[in-house]
Amino acid sequence: MPVRLFNTLARDVEEFRPKDPPLVRMYTCGPTVYDHAHIGNLRSFVFEDLLQRHLELRGYRVLRVMNLTDVDDKTIRGARQAGVTLGEFTARYKKTFFEDLDLLRIRRAEAYPEATDPAHVARMIAMIATLVERGHAYRADDGSVYFRIASFPAYGRLARLDLENLRPGARVRSDEYEKESVGDFALWKAWDADDGDVRWDSPWGPGRPGWHIECSAMATALLGDELDIHCGGVDNIFPHHEAEIAQTECCTGLTFARHWVHGEHLLVDGQKMSKSLGNFYTLRDLLAQGWTGREVRFALLRVNYGLPLNFTLAGLADARAALARLDAWAERIAERAALEPDQPGVIPQVAAEERFENALDANLNISGALGELFKTVTETNRALDLGQLSSGQARGYAEWFAKLQRVLAVEPEAAGIPPEAQALLDRRAAARDAKDWKASDALRAELAALGWDVKDSKEGQKLSRRAGA
Ligand code: AMP
Ligand code: ZN
Repeated sequence: MPVRLFNTLARDVEEFRPKDPPLVRMYTCGPTVYDHAHIGNLRSFVFEDLLQRHLELRGYRVLRVMNLTDVDDKTIRGARQAGVTLGEFTARYKKTFFEDLDLLRIRRAEAYPEATDPAHVARMIAMIATLVERGHAYRADDGSVYFRIASFPAYGRLARLDLENLRPGARVRSDEYEKESVGDFALWKAWDADDGDVRWDSPWGPGRPGWHIECSAMATALLGDELDIHCGGVDNIFPHHEAEIAQTECCTGLTFARHWVHGEHLLVDGQKMSKSLGNFYTLRDLLAQGWTGREVRFALLRVNYGLPLNFTLAGLADARAALARLDAWAERIAERAALEPDQPGVIPQVAAEERFENALDANLNISGALGELFKTVTETNRALDLGQLSSGQARGYAEWFAKLQRVLAVEPEAAGIPPEAQALLDRRAAARDAKDWKASDALRAELAALGWDVKDSKEGQKLSRRAGA
């Protein structure tokens, strides 16, 4: 079955067709590093991880890039309030962001470009210069450069803006605004005293890039002018992604992204979890309450990305109970398999496997896929109770479950494996899926340097402490 995904641009589920299969060029808008990520942000990153893992299971080679927004209105304000440099300020949150990724078993992207990287700033300036040259942008009196939305007829297509009735206003300098304030948006923001020493020289005077052009420049620098998938949360649709399309397409003349895939929000009492509303939890808050990264991952993962997910502690407790049920089942089938270790694994679950993967093909229907898994758990538990499951069958289920974990990644914490080793293991699993043996060997060496040996078996990778380590 082909993979099908909801494309925000078409407002419909479409067959996924990357330009150069099996390669998939995937760009995912990353965190603004002005605070710890909250678990709403992390829900978006978990759904993108699930999408990447499923595409890899289906034989695609996913080249994913996620940016770090380390200069924008919020980071500058935060650094000023903390009395430290922008670089010192954002470094803290970059570090905790990567820790969160490891705790949630989110596979690392190929690259995490930073907006303040001089090479990327140079590219942003070059793109803005092209836009000015072609009449898509203009310098205003204050030295800022704005994108002229009237110069791009497709402006508003992604967010379905009704420009006639909205009557675009003059200009918006802020990075985030409501549709009602639609107008020409800032590509380059002229320096002002609040920016302190955050400034770059440009043909329009000192200043800094707007948030939107950062993503256009970094995405095209690392993935080329045409992306297969561009992801983010639904709040990114307007103005961020609308602006990205306008800027990039006016520079390249090509369609920027073939599929726009947006995750719905994590809600608290019916409202978006967000910093500004103060209704948020960080992963650290939850770990401090005794929840594990694995449980939080499962709680965020199990609801389809296209549906809002109301966050509650009862939901986390459900996730814990569901995982306990899976763990108990995995142990039971392993015990049954071990009774007759010579029986080869038989694959009685072809239908279950197909139903699980087909559900994910259908716009990443994870709740349907998990439904299939739990049905299998119930049926096989019953067969075990009646003594009707052979060791070979049990082994077949165990092997199947190990394969599912490449997508789910909710296996129990192997006793004593630290998160940094687990993260390397996860990356190595991805490299092996992509048949990238060189990367796989390099990751084996990195694990060895940390004191771990890795063996490959049918059930996946097995880690053991190095003798003498
Ligand atoms: P930010 O750090 O605000 O730039 O956001 C990083 C990512 O998190 C973006 O893709 C946002 O769309 C996403 N995001 C922000 N709030 C939520 C939420 N409550 N639920 C799901 N995703 C969110
Ligand atoms: Zn972005």
